Amino acid sequence: MTVFHTPNFTPSTLLIEWQKQFGRHGLPWMVKDAYCRWISEIMLQQTQVSVVKDYYARFMEAFPTIDVLARAPEEDVMRLWAGLGYYTRARNLHACAKVIVERFGGKLPQTVEQLESLPGIGRSTAGAIASFAYDVPAPILDGNVKRVFSRLVRYEGAVGLAATEKYLWQLAYAWVPEKETGTYNQALMDLGATVCTRTRPQCERCPLKQQCAARAVGDAHRFPVRRPKKPVPTRSAVMMLWCSSEGVWLEPRTGKGVWRGLMSLPEVQEPVGAPFVTFSHVFSHYELKATVCRQWVEATSRPTPNGRWVNARDLPSVALPAPIEKLLKLHADVLFAVV
Ligand code: SF4
Repeated sequence: MTVFHTPNFTPSTLLIEWQKQFGRHGLPWMVKDAYCRWISEIMLQQTQVSVVKDYYARFMEAFPTIDVLARAPEEDVMRLWAGLGYYTRARNLHACAKVIVERFGGKLPQTVEQLESLPGIGRSTAGAIASFAYDVPAPILDGNVKRVFSRLVRYEGAVGLAATEKYLWQLAYAWVPEKETGTYNQALMDLGATVCTRTRPQCERCPLKQQCAARAVGDAHRFPVRRPKKPVPTRSAVMMLWCSSEGVWLEPRTGKGVWRGLMSLPEVQEPVGAPFVTFSHVFSHYELKATVCRQWVEATSRPTPNGRWVNARDLPSVALPAPIEKLLKLHADVLFAVV
């Protein structure tokens, strides 16, 4: 593996100045509060700021402290997360709140090591919380930062490989400043999100354009180097859409699946009724191909032991997986029409 450029500069001064002038300011979670920073960091994983804003506001209103979050039923947490996807984040968040109450008296710890020991908090998130809330000079290395670093040094190793992670973390530790670490980390996040973007980096606006190896060569689009994609396995499922004058029948997902804790259409081995619609949904590790069959039944019946009827009015308050919510909204006029 060849590194084409040995970094002999420190980008922190340029980045800190740039952040103050051109970075993002005034976002609701940009406060010196570990709880706010933790919730926002978890929500912002794989999700854009514009989407997170509303979820964050609703979540903080419902769970203003770690104690309140720890005591809340999982269903409430999942309901406020519904639509954000990657539901393991919400379950870990809830489990983590309980651990923080038990082990740390309801306050997020201050060291990266202690933060990293909590469910769902990796090294980069720990660094973000520690630097933003507690002024600890800890580095971060999220997807955006990996992209910026890979381009700055034209790193040829593929993302996801252990050697690449190790090298990029070495850079992160070498470059993180002792002072104003929060501003520096914010600058890296902002640069990756607004200037050094995945498809169209705007190098002319970049504070690091003089130092950037990829810009010098003109091949920023090649970095970070991706591993060849493995084909994603497919899982087929048949779901039942039982409809009555009381609405549609939804049941809580249990077990270990990605939708655990959410309400969904029951899955069945043998469909009854007529095929109504098909959909596919790509998760990080497989693609779900679902056939949804519909059957009208009496409102007095209980198609499965654990479900309940949900009408159109109550639908917004139910924690649903995104594709199921989309399907129900799309066909609301025919599903909820019978009175
Ligand atoms: S100069 Fe361009 S490629 Fe290099 S870090 Fe800046 S935006 Fe990214």
